[in-house]
Amino acid sequence: MEQALEDLAVELANADPGARSATELADAAVFLAHAGQHLARPELATRSLELAAMAVERADGHAGLGLYDGLVGVAWAIEHMLAHPQPRHDSEPRGWSWDDDPTEDVHDVVLFETVDPEPRHAAELAYGRVGHGVLELERLLLSRRDSRRLLAAIADRLEGAALSTTHGVTWRAAASDADHYEDLGLAHGSAGVIAFLARLVRLGIAPHRTVPLLERATAQLSSHRLHDGGFPGRAYQGRPPVASRLAWCYGDLGVAAALWGAGTSLQRAEPSELAVDVAVRAAARDLASAGEPDAGFCHGAAGLAFTFQLLHHLMRAEPLRDAARRWLEHGLHLARPPADRAPWGMLEGLAGIGLAWVAAISPRPPHWASRFLLWPD
Ligand SMILES: [Zn+2]
Repeated sequence: MEQALEDLAVELANADPGARSATELADAAVFLAHAGQHLARPELATRSLELAAMAVERADGHAGLGLYDGLVGVAWAIEHMLAHPQPRHDSEPRGWSWDDDPTEDVHDVVLFETVDPEPRHAAELAYGRVGHGVLELERLLLSRRDSRRLLAAIADRLEGAALSTTHGVTWRAAASDADHYEDLGLAHGSAGVIAFLARLVRLGIAPHRTVPLLERATAQLSSHRLHDGGFPGRAYQGRPPVASRLAWCYGDLGVAAALWGAGTSLQRAEPSELAVDVAVRAAARDLASAGEPDAGFCHGAAGLAFTFQLLHHLMRAEPLRDAARRWLEHGLHLARPPADRAPWGMLEGLAGIGLAWVAAISPRPPHWASRFLLWPD
């Protein structure tokens, strides 16, 4: 494991950054920072800083606002690296330095998005306000200007965009045929909104809005549980629901993480017990029922291994630890393309795979998992 991690980190550090996007560079920088710290190899930390500086140079208005492929993601990576600094040797040159607030420009764009009355992706993680909120949560760690106020404004917009249902509230999905289904996943749907709201409730942000919204959204999501105990990825009007593949982005695992967050933040046993039940059931799923995951984080072995590991840390249920080890093992045996051809990002590339490996062997809490709406506390 240690050797596989070292090989991956060294290969990525030596790979040509060529025409890589700003987010790929920033995500590789996050991975090399954590890998360098765990492996005690300062040259990896130095390379991490070089890649982060390149990412900032390449981040421009054409990058879009996505959390995984746009400006918000680059800003998140920089804030994350500043909030979780590397131990430094005094003799080591820093290579570069920041102004007071290197992500101020992105922050202003996010602020604009938040007051925009008709954003395309109202309530989702990858491209929407929840993703902007994930950036603001990272900025909050550094006591950045306006972060608390902006998080409260995002909660306000989520409340405004919520649709009342029989069981509670949900949100309109962003895709073009969105009128016909409810998206229940972490990456684009209500599980993501729930995990985010749970964090706001825990931080005491706008509780008069976030507590009732979280309660009603949790009730609505819970109502979609299938007879066999799992959750669909989407719920279509007038069509029988089908079980989702096993992944971080859609299905049982992400739903379990969101419901656990809701239960602990609201201090209610029911969502937490449901979360444990769903997670333990998901741990028993085999390769075929999981939908043949790839190696990456989003819907792959790295995301499964890490999410099961985190849920075991939170829930203390043995089958979750066994599942984490099994998926880690499976991921290690999957062939991966070399670093000069593979994607580098945290969502579907080498940085996400590498960070899951660091988490598997390092005693340090995986604070980077906030990018995926997962928290170790
Ligand atoms: Zn996915």
